[in-house]
Amino acid sequence: MKKDKESVAVSKTKRQRGVVYIKNELCKGCGFCVEFCPFGVLEISDEFNEKGYHPPKVVKPEACTGCDLCGMYCPDFAIFGKKLK
Ligand code: SF4
Ligand code: SF4
Repeated sequence: MKKDKESVAVSKTKRQRGVVYIKNELCKGCGFCVEFCPFGVLEISDEFNEKGYHPPKVVKPEACTGCDLCGMYCPDFAIFGKKLK
């Protein structure tokens, strides 16, 4: 079983305006962040965290604006977005 502690969406493209941080160990796999991200940045991962839940993974890092909607909807403070300057 693979245990990713944290994943970060970082892209080298010029278009990227934000970054999203995921604390896998805090996630309970509810999927709110995936559902409410307006840009389809996230998907539920096939991997399990230490608690046996599926955390989100970043599938479109270049689309992240850092709006932090994912963070606002996450009940477990397991994810947040940040705007890049
Ligand atoms: S909203 Fe939070 S707890 Fe729910 S899947 Fe996303 S990161 Fe995990
Ligand atoms: S910060 Fe905004 S754009 Fe980036 S993953 Fe979260 S909800 Fe999606």
